[in-house]
Amino acid sequence: MGNSLNREKIIVRTSIIGILSNLFLSFFKAIVGLSVKSIAILMDALNNLTDAMSSIVTIIGIKLANKEANREHPFGHGRIEYLTAMFISLFILYAGITSLIESIKKILEPEIPSYTNISFLIISVAVIVKIVLGLYVKKVGEKVNSDSLIASGNDAKFDAIISLSILFAGIIYIFFKIKIEAYLGIAISIVIIKAGYGILKETVADLIGERIDSEIAKDIKDCINSFDEVLGTYDLIIHNYGPNVLVGSAHIEVSDKMTAYEIDTLEREITKKVYNEFKVYITGLSIYSSNNNDKKISEMKDRIDKILDNFPHVMQMHGFYLDEIKRIVKFDVVISFDDKEKYTTVKNIINEISKFYPDYEFQITLDNDISD
Ligand SMILES: [Zn+2]
Repeated sequence: MGNSLNREKIIVRTSIIGILSNLFLSFFKAIVGLSVKSIAILMDALNNLTDAMSSIVTIIGIKLANKEANREHPFGHGRIEYLTAMFISLFILYAGITSLIESIKKILEPEIPSYTNISFLIISVAVIVKIVLGLYVKKVGEKVNSDSLIASGNDAKFDAIISLSILFAGIIYIFFKIKIEAYLGIAISIVIIKAGYGILKETVADLIGERIDSEIAKDIKDCINSFDEVLGTYDLIIHNYGPNVLVGSAHIEVSDKMTAYEIDTLEREITKKVYNEFKVYITGLSIYSSNNNDKKISEMKDRIDKILDNFPHVMQMHGFYLDEIKRIVKFDVVISFDDKEKYTTVKNIINEISKFYPDYEFQITLDNDISD
């Protein structure tokens, strides 16, 4: 815990250094841009300002999101980070679109920039500051393993290239009298819009709910399968309440000889192990009972498995149970999202299997392909 607090402190401190540098650069560039009438320098100032704003909102987001869970919000406040990120993205998009419009106006009604030596000097200093800042922020980000710091470090290097290109545009104008300023303004606007769109897309995806990472899903299943009593783990579902609060459920297959007490003990141990290893709260483990070690039953299961091979959208069959007394066979099939007529597929499966086993009733549960 002490370590993660320390980590948060380092991230916040580094972000504040970035914010102050960006505000400083933005301020001087804005003055230079206005005094020499350069739209590109003004847009560059705006670009630095949006960087500073987004870092500020990120810090506020982290602080709000870390608020303890309470009665009204029992899963904590982690999703606030998505809202702040969405706010940032809309702000950046607005800045980008506005600057795009301004740049286009400048192409239609060009203004002649009057570069001065001082303006070149300030842009040059800005380039150096951005490169040093970018390297520093990225190094700290790698040290404390923070994606957002690494991203903003890379972003700073990119900003240095933008400022550098403005410098070249000025030199080209002085020597050749060719004005590429406003076009550069358009290019910078597109960079800003692209950044805003990228954040918006990612945040919306987080809010809608994304498929969990294939590696993590497999690791969690492996962890549950590592218990000797567990014959298989299926239907893993994980929800997130912000980047740090993960809640989930799964289905496990166990022998039908286990007692309720034995299953209870097993479930508690699984829940504890999954939390310790992945920080995922397993809130429910549903049970499939299995009697597959019987030769006749396992033969029937293999046969049905073969029949299912003829259904290309069926990805998996699990939870197979044969009740010989009631003559009922139960199992689940995982059907791909590509299948637009899942219920018809299930009916067809039952028809097909019933040809081979006319004396049995088949109860098939349709599962969605939720995780790998
Ligand atoms: Zn299932």
